[in-house]
Amino acid sequence: MNLSRLDPAARGHGMTSQRARDRLVERLAGEGIGDRRVLEVMRQMPRHLFIDEALASRAYEDTALPIGRGQTISQPYVVARMTEALLAHGEPRRVLEIGTGSGYQCAVLAGLVETVYTVERIEELLRAARRRFRKLGLANIRSRHDDGRLGWPDEAPFDAILLTAAGAALEPALLDQLAPEGCLVAPVGPPGSQTLIRVSAGADGWISEPLAAVSFVPLLGGTG
Ligand code: SAH
Repeated sequence: MNLSRLDPAARGHGMTSQRARDRLVERLAGEGIGDRRVLEVMRQMPRHLFIDEALASRAYEDTALPIGRGQTISQPYVVARMTEALLAHGEPRRVLEIGTGSGYQCAVLAGLVETVYTVERIEELLRAARRRFRKLGLANIRSRHDDGRLGWPDEAPFDAILLTAAGAALEPALLDQLAPEGCLVAPVGPPGSQTLIRVSAGADGWISEPLAAVSFVPLLGGTG
């Protein structure tokens, strides 16, 4: 990612300036995000380009924001925490994300791993995310319009899988597409009582570590 290649409006000014991004990253570090690689990519990533212009002035608040169709761009702290949890488990090269949404989480991952595969069930959101990836010159993202609960079997196995929508339980199809040494990071549980977990293979089956209490939109079936 090279922000200097973007036109000045895309680099941001005032509430969307580099100073605003720096302050957000300082706040994330203060809240316990310790992985320098994650902080550096988030310092560079123009989150204001992933939301509607009318909300751009709030892009560097540490909060989830609406992106249309009842969906939200995740809170920066949660993006950082999930990305950090994923990188702390080995050195993933190929990562599958379920729930492209605005594309922000995917773009952050694309700055850190070799290839990101991302699946979104709402075509309109996926098209907007693809435009953003092109504008930012992110060439290591492959995306697909589908029900992400099925994963992306043709490209499996993945070194890591990240879900940005919460299901009641883990999807067996996704665990099947995880490499033996890989990990899956996902919010699980009903609205109002979700836990972010990291799942990896242990000697006698899956090991699930709780990471944080979170609040995500639901993982839905089918495509829209
Ligand atoms: N990672 C996104 C978060 C978007 S919110 C971001 O950074 O902006 C979660 C997204 O998951 C929504 O766009 C929603 O449409 C999508 N989603 C929900 N269920 C899904 C499913 N079964 N397959 C693919 N995407 C799904």
